[in-house]
Amino acid sequence: MPVAMNDHRDPGQVSLAGEGEEVVLRVKRHPRARRISLRADPRDGAVVLVLPMRASVDAGLAFARSQAAWIRARLAAAPRPVAFAPGTRLALEGEEVEIVHDAARRGPARREGGLLVVGGKPEFIARRVRDFLRAEAGRRLGPLAAEKAAALGRTLRALRITDTRSRWGSCARDARISLSWRLVIAPPRVADYVVAHEVAHLAHHDHSPAFWRVVDTLTAHRAEAQAWLRANGAALLGAGRA
Ligand SMILES: [Zn+2]
Repeated sequence: MPVAMNDHRDPGQVSLAGEGEEVVLRVKRHPRARRISLRADPRDGAVVLVLPMRASVDAGLAFARSQAAWIRARLAAAPRPVAFAPGTRLALEGEEVEIVHDAARRGPARREGGLLVVGGKPEFIARRVRDFLRAEAGRRLGPLAAEKAAALGRTLRALRITDTRSRWGSCARDARISLSWRLVIAPPRVADYVVAHEVAHLAHHDHSPAFWRVVDTLTAHRAEAQAWLRANGAALLGAGRA
């Protein structure tokens, strides 16, 4: 039987054993890469081994081994996701709230000034915080999206608040927008940018220069928000998962 091309597929990831913790690297072929390199994936903080089309995985591994100190430093420096547990402070739309547990309370978590009071059994605290943040996201991001759509002269057909692993929002061709509830614990300017980005897709279903011009009419915070997401996006995606 002929051997199919993809029998020689690269492994999706490789691990670097050595002293200390094992480090897993994601492997990615890049048609325009001229040399082997390493970079951090802003979506989840993973370190990616980038290979030119003709480089072997072994050569990539040898390069990664020579850069082990850089890789460990990079992983150690990445902001850590916060746990949704008593004592954790969250920046809820830019205002600090501390999670406190009151076992005697019933019903959903409630914000009381600088506290987010969560009742019930301790094992459900993280879930109750998530439920609270999701409801907050609908309450705060819904009107923001509607306002930006109106500024663009478009109508939003529906808004969904979602929990996806890798994205902050999306916009379907039928004008339904999805936004991550995690945006309510990002700085307000970051949420403003992501909402502007998805709403701008109502006008342009691409990332063309025309699209970016529309984004910039809907938010003044594009560059700042993109930089924040590159530095903190991974931690934000991991918040409350522990
Ligand atoms: Zn986009």
